[in-house]
Amino acid sequence: MSDAFVSVAGVSKLFRPALSVGDRIAARLGASVETRPVQAVSDVSLAIRRGEMLGLVGESGCGKSTLGRLVAGILDPSAGRIEIDGAPVRAAGRKVTTRVQTVFQDPFSSLDPRMRIGEALTEGPLAHGLVDRRDATVFARDRLAAVGLDPDMVGRFPHQFSGGQRQRVAIARALAMRPDVLVCDEPVASLDVSIQAQIVNLLLGLRAGGDLTTLFISHDLGIVRHLCDRVAVMYLGRIVEIGPTRSVYEDPQHPYTRSLLAAVPRLEAGRAVFTPAVGQIPSPLDPPPGCAFHPRCPIARVPDPCRSERPLLRDAGGQEAACHFAG
Ligand code: SF4
Repeated sequence: MSDAFVSVAGVSKLFRPALSVGDRIAARLGASVETRPVQAVSDVSLAIRRGEMLGLVGESGCGKSTLGRLVAGILDPSAGRIEIDGAPVRAAGRKVTTRVQTVFQDPFSSLDPRMRIGEALTEGPLAHGLVDRRDATVFARDRLAAVGLDPDMVGRFPHQFSGGQRQRVAIARALAMRPDVLVCDEPVASLDVSIQAQIVNLLLGLRAGGDLTTLFISHDLGIVRHLCDRVAVMYLGRIVEIGPTRSVYEDPQHPYTRSLLAAVPRLEAGRAVFTPAVGQIPSPLDPPPGCAFHPRCPIARVPDPCRSERPLLRDAGGQEAACHFAG
């Protein structure tokens, strides 16, 4: 995509699992012990336009949070390149850029319980010269008001806020750094449905502003459909389908996406939560050959081509899908 603002090119991330107790003892005794690396993200390429909100969906363990942390510069890729507006998100040896900010599922974990909210909101901007110390209190009050909270809460501690209010504070804190890119990793997953709606409306308001580019990671297909311009579906570390939200939801081209969407109407309490396809997601330590989805795919043709050849993303109507029979 030539007008990419966020560019992810051929990015992979390998993790080497910690040694078990037995392996550690064996290693101390001089045995040669090796752990097999886990490929959390495999050769992912995607682009996000300026001001666009891209949804990233998939089962737990599919690599979507790892990809989010790579885009945020929290992790270094094992291979490939990530750029924001043409500049590396994390050049070797440099500090992580403040151009990307992250909102996590659990806002409590990202707020210091001993720090008043006003300090939490101004700590980063003061350190980076985005606000003058004399204006810090006014700045913090403005930031609270911008996310629909009472500015008089500025002197409170995190435990004095509800879960939904804390997530608003976390969003305000991220936005206080004036980022170009926001990575939201399951930001509403731990909230009640009514509170989720408030946070979703807040994010919709941010999207309407037009300047903020967002990667929205979620297992909630209903929220992604409501919020995102485009959606990427991830399976075992790879993107298997990506395209405009409407195209993907109305005419999914990958069997995995189809199985996810087919499950949605059966879900309870109005929540269109992700339901895995039949069978277990294979271990990333030992991914199936060919198409990694073939052991669970209802239309797989094995051995050829589905077990022998890995399908690449290709044009399939309004979107791209990595299936030999897409389109
Ligand atoms: Fe199913 Fe084969 Fe398509 Fe993979 S390539 S999704 S196994 S039909």
